[in-house]
Amino acid sequence: MYIVQIASECAPVIKAGGLGDVVYGLSRELGMRGHCVELILPMYDCMRYDHIWGLHDAYQGLSVPWYGGAIHCDVFCGWVHGQLCFFIQPKSGDNYFHRGHYYGALDDHMRFAFFSKAALEFLLRANKRPDILHCHDWQTGLVPVLLYEMYQYHGMGNQRVVYTIHNFKHQGIAGSDVLWATGLNREPHYFHYDRLMDNFNPFALNLMKGGIVYANYVNTVSPHHAWEARFENVGYGLGHTLEIHHHKFGGILNGIDYNVWNPEQDDYIPHAYSIDDLSGKALNKKALREHLLLREADKPILAFIGRLDDQKGMHLVHHAIYHALNQNAQFVLLGSATEPGINAWFWHEKHFLNSNPDCHLELGFNEELAHLIYAGADMIVVPSNYEPCGLTQVIGLQYGTVPIVRGVGGLVNTVFDRDYDPEKPPEKRNGYVFYQTDQHALESAINRALGLWYDYPQAFEQLVKQGMAYDYSWNLPGQQYQEIYERVRY
Ligand code: ADP
Repeated sequence: MYIVQIASECAPVIKAGGLGDVVYGLSRELGMRGHCVELILPMYDCMRYDHIWGLHDAYQGLSVPWYGGAIHCDVFCGWVHGQLCFFIQPKSGDNYFHRGHYYGALDDHMRFAFFSKAALEFLLRANKRPDILHCHDWQTGLVPVLLYEMYQYHGMGNQRVVYTIHNFKHQGIAGSDVLWATGLNREPHYFHYDRLMDNFNPFALNLMKGGIVYANYVNTVSPHHAWEARFENVGYGLGHTLEIHHHKFGGILNGIDYNVWNPEQDDYIPHAYSIDDLSGKALNKKALREHLLLREADKPILAFIGRLDDQKGMHLVHHAIYHALNQNAQFVLLGSATEPGINAWFWHEKHFLNSNPDCHLELGFNEELAHLIYAGADMIVVPSNYEPCGLTQVIGLQYGTVPIVRGVGGLVNTVFDRDYDPEKPPEKRNGYVFYQTDQHALESAINRALGLWYDYPQAFEQLVKQGMAYDYSWNLPGQQYQEIYERVRY
């Protein structure tokens, strides 16, 4: 099959979170299964150009209709760790992708509406006719809308769209300007409950809703989150739309790329190790301490890696730091915040804890350090409010770092409590799970993990190995996406 992924991220060249990992990992898996896979991405000024090989002009002077006129774009092409990527660079005063950041501009809805339109225009003009267009999150929700309402009449009638939702919180709320800019026009047609009209604000368009309504298949990134999104409040108002379209909606658990996340061959960690020989993990713990100036002591290291965002349960992350320190453990945090209040809060904590030899807070995005933390920490805490899939607990498992998670979304599908899991037998359990959002629930899970580490080190090592034995590679999800592609093609 010929598959084109249209996305706003692809790791490691453009990565703000899990979306980037998934787009890259899935593409590589599909390529290994013999499919022809290409990616279309925005050409941001701030992306990691050092991860692109052989960047060159692929299509000059692409004219993308916009507001009755056109914006001219250059399309560049290069390989990101073996994946063929096309980067769209618009040449207009709007500087859509020259903002020094990926997201967070006031005109994000216009930036990504333009990107969606430009991606289709590029496929049309370059005579590319993939079997499947795979789009991700609100940024590309307009692709199936534009394809169905417009581009199928221009010679793209055989293309099918799979739309993957990585986070329901951000839905791309827009006004009618998007319709006039993209040439969809007909306001009364799109401002309709059955199409793009937001479920709560009748004067707004919802680009993610457009993706759900128009795509041939829609999924979110874990089976449990698919259920939650339909029946609980985590669909952020789209539950009813998902209910209407339930016949084409499901959940596929994300994988991780074992070529990128593998303690046996990770360039970012100083000592390789495996399930059969964990001695390297102890050396990485030492290296992590040296790197972050933590004291050498017979204590476990707890870690948190992730966006500092309400989604991730910030009050519990904050509490985990102090609780771990109180319980004779060390704590390492790596995270970045886009929300100014959370940013200020954690900078304050960082300064407050600066001289503590058992704690390090690293505020910012640092891929290399993330690898060293996964390898050097003993436990990773993921106390999310909601979590569509969550990758940090899965990467933790792969690196023998025991996850302590809240039982929501994909965390339920990947972590099984050592002491209480109702389904898995003891030899298949791999971490600790708590359910409530209060501090006591978190504390009790952390205490159980620390208790095992201190009092039963052999049992702790056994738990580490049970986690490492899980296969969360792209193998199974790759197969599931392939089956969906085949299903929607006919
Ligand atoms: P989300 O997609 O909600 O951000 P996930 O758990 O699905 O969360 O994916 C997070 C990914 O981003 C993981 O690969 C994690 O290692 C990485 N990550 C998150 N924050 C940082 C950071 N500050 N520095 C480096 N990597 C990070």
